[in-house]
Amino acid sequence: MSTKFSFEIFPPRKDMPVEVIYNTLDGLTDLNPDFISVTCGAGGSSSNASERMIDIAAAIKDKYHKKSVAHLPCINLDKAEVEKILTQLELRGIDEILALRGDKVQGVEPKNIFPHAVDLISFIREKTERKFKIYAACYPEGHTDSKDFDADLNFLKEKVDAGVDGLITQLFFDNNHFYYFMEKIHALGIDLPVEAGIMPVTNKKQIERMVNICGASLPVKFRKILDRYGNDSSALQEAGIVYALNQIVDLLAHNVNGIHLYVMNNVYVARRISDAIKNLL
Ligand code: FAD
Repeated sequence: MSTKFSFEIFPPRKDMPVEVIYNTLDGLTDLNPDFISVTCGAGGSSSNASERMIDIAAAIKDKYHKKSVAHLPCINLDKAEVEKILTQLELRGIDEILALRGDKVQGVEPKNIFPHAVDLISFIREKTERKFKIYAACYPEGHTDSKDFDADLNFLKEKVDAGVDGLITQLFFDNNHFYYFMEKIHALGIDLPVEAGIMPVTNKKQIERMVNICGASLPVKFRKILDRYGNDSSALQEAGIVYALNQIVDLLAHNVNGIHLYVMNNVYVARRISDAIKNLL
């Protein structure tokens, strides 16, 4: 049995050419991931984010000959804009999408045409049938907007039934959340492959910001690492790699379908993890 191994990257800052990402891709594609997914800001068409995301996803495919997954947040898009993006994806030969709602962007009033990811997924299926493989996001600790965990799982089931082929999880630091989540979704009849999102921590500020945004809880043993090494960036990076590797080996032993690494464009960290697990996948 083999486990998928993938990376998530984000485009360079807006004031930089997208080609800057080639430095990162040169290193990441060397590690032979099953796919690389490319994040996309949720600011809508005026932000130019989807064009930049598509250019990078196309380069992963055409220049590096690897599979790419295009993130598509819909909160600030209307139907014509989504159709345009789908056409561009098709023209560039990108046939895998991570269909997302996205979060409210400061200063942008949501269009409310696609209030939830399920609306986007139904629309893609209606317009393009099975042309695209569709992934959706899921949350082992529940989504921060949800009134409770079960409500979030029921909405996940609706999302899956709208035509999802695979799920990618939000990052988590305690595998028990993931195992409990898997039991719950199986009980709901969700049987899709689920890629476990793992973020090797390399920077204390970054992790505090991420946890604030995504609501992942920090286990005591993880906080202890931040307390001890938080002010020593190279020691924290080493400890973060070891912590992520422990999580990954445990997930592999539990026959996880895939490991999706939030590598934050850090090739060194991706390489360390990839080298350590390449014979375990
Ligand atoms: P949804 O599935 O719409 O869920 C959002 C909330 O609404 C949940 O609380 C859910 O329970 C609830 N809900 C769902 N359906 C309904 C319904 N029909 N009625 C009422 N409530 C409902 N964001 C970006 O902007 N760009 C990215 O590139 C990006 N990449 C991501 C990659 C991964 C792997 C993950 C896990 C997240 C990513 N995000 C990204 C963040 C994501 O956009 C946010 O977490 C967002 O808040 C929720 O997106 P979703 O697609 O899960 O939303």
